[in-house]
Amino acid sequence: MQAIQARCDGEPFYLAQGDEIEIFAQCHRQGLPVMLKGPTGCGKTRFVEHMAWRLGRPMVSVACHDDLTASDLLGRFLIRGDETVWQDGPVTQAVRRGAILYLDEVVEARPDTTVVIHPLSDHRRVLSLDKTGEVIDAAPGFQLVISYNPSYQHALKDLKPSTRQRFVALEFDFPDSGREIEIVAVEGGVERACAVALVTLAGRIRPLRDRGLAEAPSTRVLVAAARLIAAGIPERKACEVAIAGPLTDDPTLIAAVRDLIAGHF
Ligand code: ADP
Repeated sequence: MQAIQARCDGEPFYLAQGDEIEIFAQCHRQGLPVMLKGPTGCGKTRFVEHMAWRLGRPMVSVACHDDLTASDLLGRFLIRGDETVWQDGPVTQAVRRGAILYLDEVVEARPDTTVVIHPLSDHRRVLSLDKTGEVIDAAPGFQLVISYNPSYQHALKDLKPSTRQRFVALEFDFPDSGREIEIVAVEGGVERACAVALVTLAGRIRPLRDRGLAEAPSTRVLVAAARLIAAGIPERKACEVAIAGPLTDDPTLIAAVRDLIAGHF
């Protein structure tokens, strides 16, 4: 499990896709939890980092997976010398500090862990720690944010309707090409012409999903390729290692992606 607590000093760069900044800010004011839906690498985490900065709140981020237990989230007793001390988990820390709690890929978590977030997502905004008997009211500014990728999920892992209905849903997708060019240029540190070539290349690779490519290349992989290019790696090589390699192991698809790369660089 990763739990990163950060209060960003500088503004995390985020290029809005629509009115998501205003809607999120309004949800924060009203204490409403938010779910972010969208493919991996399309800017969901960056959006939450940006909003935490805008709203002046700390952010606690947890990458969910199927081994994550309620104790990992809430906390546990630890033995220190001859003492037993309670150590808050990331959810408890976020509730006490009035942080923005970001549970990334929440459908990966076990059902018993999603029960933990239930009372935090309704108007009560309380957290009960069975192990210590404590009932904690969420500090002002606390906000629950979850994300998931609808195309990964299967029925069993789907969120319960009763959980879903507590959230405001914001849909994310890859940015349009104009925005994606700007993101790749800024984040990757490359000239605009290079960002245009990378985004055009992605536009040609993304339709290969119909020919068996499991995932479309995300904005994240384009930024990674751009960073390698900016650091002096030859363009084709950078695209092969940052875009083609991570996407697939299928030799036919790799060859098709390589041909597209050669056509653009
Ligand atoms: P997700 O959480 O959806 O998997 P991330 O937020 O980690 O994706 O986005 C991956 C990377 O893509 C970010 O680190 C950032 O460089 C870039 N990125 C994607 N969308 C945006 C955006 N709208 N504004 C700024 N950067 C973005």
